[in-house]
Amino acid sequence: MCEKVRTPVTRRAIISDSKVLLAELDARLATDWTFSSGRVLGSMCSVPHPVAAAAFERVLEANIGDEGLVPALAALEREAVGQFAGWWGHPEASGRIVSGGTEANVMALWTAKIVAGPGKNEVVIPASAHYSFDKAASLMGLTLVKAPVGKDGCLDPAVAEAALTDRTCAFVGVAGSTALGAVDNVFALAEVARRRKVYFHLDASFGGYVLPFLADAGYPVHPFGWPEGMASLSADPHKMGRGPVPSGMILWRDEDLARVSAVEVGYLSGGRLRQNTLVGTRSGASVAAVWAVQKHLDRAGYGEVVKTAMGTTVALTNALKGISGAQPVFDPAPLNVVGVRTPGRETGDVVARLRLRGWALSQWDGFFRIVVMPHVTPPVIDGFLADLQEVLK
Ligand code: PLP
Repeated sequence: MCEKVRTPVTRRAIISDSKVLLAELDARLATDWTFSSGRVLGSMCSVPHPVAAAAFERVLEANIGDEGLVPALAALEREAVGQFAGWWGHPEASGRIVSGGTEANVMALWTAKIVAGPGKNEVVIPASAHYSFDKAASLMGLTLVKAPVGKDGCLDPAVAEAALTDRTCAFVGVAGSTALGAVDNVFALAEVARRRKVYFHLDASFGGYVLPFLADAGYPVHPFGWPEGMASLSADPHKMGRGPVPSGMILWRDEDLARVSAVEVGYLSGGRLRQNTLVGTRSGASVAAVWAVQKHLDRAGYGEVVKTAMGTTVALTNALKGISGAQPVFDPAPLNVVGVRTPGRETGDVVARLRLRGWALSQWDGFFRIVVMPHVTPPVIDGFLADLQEVLK
């Protein structure tokens, strides 16, 4: 389906007629994979909610990095952050809408490094943590200490604690691991952080918009919330928040912590600005979109999103158990992320054959991953499972 025959394109150097130009653009991109096709099963992004898309388009020109120009939009950012923080049980948190989980994680470690002061450059992360922490460490000259995770994919608080030294500036938990959706126990980890007086960051880039709604959706709840020992949290609207790419969120426990990395900017409109984002120019469109989709869906709407995704996840996991040569890694899956082993068959080979049949999967060591995003519907799963069975024959 996705390796389509190429639509002929003009490849003219200059196209001044905008209609022709846009047709050329469509033709040039026609063979790319899209979420709306339903064929991308391995991504944590999805089609943005129509309300998010409409709001994004409306505010396309806004640069919220120059806050003095768009104070009303800045108020919407505070509102959206406050609403999200409320779902995590801590409406007093202060935060920013950023480009995604990578930026949010970099900002968290940046804050931690400043708070810890000189001589403390180790960061303890679970082995399940996203590679954005490798980038953050490289940027800031930090050393990552990767703590092994258990069979359930989670970081044992005792293992985390054993890895802390007097050089540790931060440690990290993950709520919704990239590979398998594993959810660390935020309360147990934050308690270690509180006792050992270490900065604790929770990377809920994936689980941030799932965990608060699992109970409403009728699924077993992972521990979630904002314990005393937690300093910051990342959560991505452009993953399960139904927001547009790019949209991420970083939240700090309070305004004081949020200001730790701020830089004073004198020349921007509205006078002196304490800018606490990594980037300067920042998408106001993303902010408007996140505000709009959160306001539109609210708790009940996200509950429906999560209920649908989890229902499909359970059905997929059960169906996999009936397919000879396939095996879910976790049963039940902790969140709407399903790892699939293919015993006796090389994962890469299976993934490559499925790609030829028009399915984009995410490949890991010994399994492939399906993320049951809103575009991954039951009919999509049925079509995929039929092809999987063919490939495994
Ligand atoms: N953290 C986790 C747990 C993720 O799964 C991801 C991406 O998949 C990220 C951080 C990075 O997010 P982004 O790609 O939006 O920078």
